[in-house]
Amino acid sequence: MSKEFVDVLVIGAGPSGCVSSSYLKKNNVNVKVVEKTKFPRLVVGESLIPRVMDHFDEAGLFPALDKMGFEKKLGARFLRGDEVCLFDFSDKFGEGWDWTWQVPRADFDNTLAQEVMNKGIDLEFETEVIGIEFNGTDSITTVKNKDGETKEIHAKFVIDSSGYGRVLPRLLDLEKPSKLSPHSAIFAHVEDTNREEGVEGTLISFDIIETEVWLWVIPFSNGNTSLGIVGPTEYIEKLIENGDTTEALRKAISLSDYYVKRFGNVDFLFEPRHLKDYSCSVKSLFGDGFALTGNASEFLDPVFSSGMAFATEGGMTAAKLAIRQLNGEKVDWQKEFADYILYGVDVFTTYVKEWYTGNLQELFFHRPENPDVKRKICAVLAGYVWNKDNPFVKKHDTVVKNLANLIRMEKQQQ
Ligand code: FAD
Repeated sequence: MSKEFVDVLVIGAGPSGCVSSSYLKKNNVNVKVVEKTKFPRLVVGESLIPRVMDHFDEAGLFPALDKMGFEKKLGARFLRGDEVCLFDFSDKFGEGWDWTWQVPRADFDNTLAQEVMNKGIDLEFETEVIGIEFNGTDSITTVKNKDGETKEIHAKFVIDSSGYGRVLPRLLDLEKPSKLSPHSAIFAHVEDTNREEGVEGTLISFDIIETEVWLWVIPFSNGNTSLGIVGPTEYIEKLIENGDTTEALRKAISLSDYYVKRFGNVDFLFEPRHLKDYSCSVKSLFGDGFALTGNASEFLDPVFSSGMAFATEGGMTAAKLAIRQLNGEKVDWQKEFADYILYGVDVFTTYVKEWYTGNLQELFFHRPENPDVKRKICAVLAGYVWNKDNPFVKKHDTVVKNLANLIRMEKQQQ
């Protein structure tokens, strides 16, 4: 079997793997990426949040993405019947980017991967990791290409960014069920022929059908729009009773008074995908000689579009720590990686849970709006979940619940 020697092996060329490999290369590390599929490939996760821009910028990937003209996302709109709550990222607490993109991931991820290769990084497509052995922090990874040929990659550190491939969690028995209750989704793209001119046509929206059931509408700059429904797994299973995801997504659209006119009669560009019980977790985010990032580690829920932000945060943080370790420094992976990432995960977990209890929806749709509360929540929705100056970050586990209770008491007294 042939052998290759690298400092860092990155598994998966999604956003997480591209950010980490690009940053490693920028810092003169000998890095290689292996990717199971051939790009472009379809993947869900099209609504970004501003925190990702910090990572694309720092990794040197921003200019290539910016040239692509992806639709700018300046905020997000939540709808519940006639009620509307619009967040504007420029009106948020604390520092941070005011905008991001909403993107067809096939094109977006392909741009990232091409740029990674333009930087001289060895990225091998159609090459799948099938096994790994560790000797201390050194490892030997076995990969197989599309012709069935195998080879060994010897690395001093491995960053697993394999998304739902969950390569190391599977191989090292690190899988753990998510703390969140099981939810599922169905999604597809449409040619958005009934799109209105101007902001209305391009605005990203989350339309609440029931407390735990919502639709997403993510318009792209190429004229297509992504449509999805999310709900408890049982609810989604009922929608696709006869196994027909096309009919199920049509039924879902018919539930939205707001969007039925725009999307009621359009064809899906591919057979709608069913993503069952999408939340996942791991027993540990790292081990001797490896770190898990993005969906290879923890995925919560699409409701606040936090997936890509955690993927790039994890990729960037792992890359920085791997560099220090390669330079002979002792790295405290528990404190500097796991505790750090999990702090942000915990904050978003609260928001996801409070969304599905309905508490957060109380806050979003309470009128008159409290501009101070809104700015602080907006910073969380923008992904700045490590800013402990924000009480909606620091006291995340109590503040939403307490405010929602106050609002309910106020309503009862009226
Ligand atoms: P990925 O983008 O999945 O990339 C992983 C790569 O690893 C893939 O290309 C895969 O082919 C490769 N790979 C897998 N196995 C192997 C192997 N054995 N060897 C080599 N390579 C391998 N996030 C958002 O930010 N916004 C959203 O709006 C959003 N919506 C979502 C909706 C739903 C229903 C779900 C389930 C998720 C959503 N997400 C969203 C989450 C988002 O999809 C992920 O968080 C994001 O794609 C993670 O990026 P990643 O780089 O970790 O993994």
